[in-house]
Amino acid sequence: MESSASSAENSEGGGGRAALKAFVSAGRGYWRDVPAEQWDDWRWQLKNRITTLAQLERLLPTLTPEERAGTQLANHKLALGITPCFFNLIDPADEFCPIRRQVIPRIEETVTAPWETIDPCGEEAHSPVPGLVHRYPDRVLFLVTDRCASYCRYCTRSRLVSNAAGYDFHPDFEQQIAYIRAHPEVRDVLLSGGDPLLLSDEKLDALLGELRAIPHVEFLRIGTRIPIFLPQRITPELCGMLRRHHPLFISIHSNHPRELTVEARTALERLADAGIPLGNQSVLLRHVNDDPEIMRIHVQKLLMCRVRPYYLYQCDLIAGSAHLRTSVRRGLEILRQLRGYTTGYAVPTYVIDAPGGGGKVPLTPEYVVRHTAERVLLRNYKGELVRIPGGA
Ligand SMILES: *Cc1c(COP(=O)(O)O)cnc(C)c1O
Ligand code: SF4
Repeated sequence: MESSASSAENSEGGGGRAALKAFVSAGRGYWRDVPAEQWDDWRWQLKNRITTLAQLERLLPTLTPEERAGTQLANHKLALGITPCFFNLIDPADEFCPIRRQVIPRIEETVTAPWETIDPCGEEAHSPVPGLVHRYPDRVLFLVTDRCASYCRYCTRSRLVSNAAGYDFHPDFEQQIAYIRAHPEVRDVLLSGGDPLLLSDEKLDALLGELRAIPHVEFLRIGTRIPIFLPQRITPELCGMLRRHHPLFISIHSNHPRELTVEARTALERLADAGIPLGNQSVLLRHVNDDPEIMRIHVQKLLMCRVRPYYLYQCDLIAGSAHLRTSVRRGLEILRQLRGYTTGYAVPTYVIDAPGGGGKVPLTPEYVVRHTAERVLLRNYKGELVRIPGGA
């Protein structure tokens, strides 16, 4: 254990943890006077996002000096934006609320360690055309938009999203598609951003259709946090459109069991019912999910939503993120406490996206004790030694 203090602060009390297993509705909370049909309209949610310090202070009287200063200063790097339905998940009484830490700026964001940068994974250097990252032999990352429904303070693409830093992202779909068309080795296109599901159904349909029309593109996937930040966006119409572009996978992004509300589960079920295999990507975050028990509840809850935990990311070395980063040692310990102790489907691959663009590197707790010409000596999940004769 790296720090028992962090684990204690992270705890929500015994009863609190048990309650995390339940699917709870986000509810209208602070917006109880808003008619249900407006609340359930994703456009209303977007229009009524919390984007200013004044709004934040009004809704959250327990705003700390660190958060107030962070909102004033950090906003120039990455905009503040929180959908009302996600905001309602914040526990106003808890400064270490795992929801709060993900979306409310803190003054620590303005402190940059020497090894932190604004493009930690070297995406710019691997972009043959703007908005397209071609790092691996057979697949590309296609950046669709610079907007998200809410903004995560640790975003690895904060240089680009929200436009607060004046990055001026103007993807040219035609140019991006032309590159893919000219590169027959690209069989897998990952749409991300920003959040591709913020595009209108028509625009996304047209884009997916153009990609599908390229004979060598076999596999399409979308990376999105919309089912968590804005579940109202997952309409039957959207699902009906998406299912015409199979095989299409979706990777969602969720970090903490409390994010898996009744509304999020409904959205995920709709996507699953449209035949879309769902994966989840989590970022390992200090005081959010750097705890084996929280993580176990989270991955098990994901399975209940028919989502397979895919990756657990070590938090990238993005400028101003040190206060959210957890040690690799702790990440490995969490993995060790998942494997064998819960459903194999629930165990994600723990990865570090190598600084500078080396790609994702998997990290696995060590199960091989010794490996000789005669035998392999292993340790099982309980720590017992297992001999495999004739192994080599
Ligand atoms: C993560 C990533 C992918 C997808 O990687 P998978 O391991 O196939 O999920 C593709 N391109 C880039 C640049 C990435 O960062
Ligand atoms: S949803 Fe993804 S792209 Fe958008 S701010 Fe969060 S981490 Fe960044």
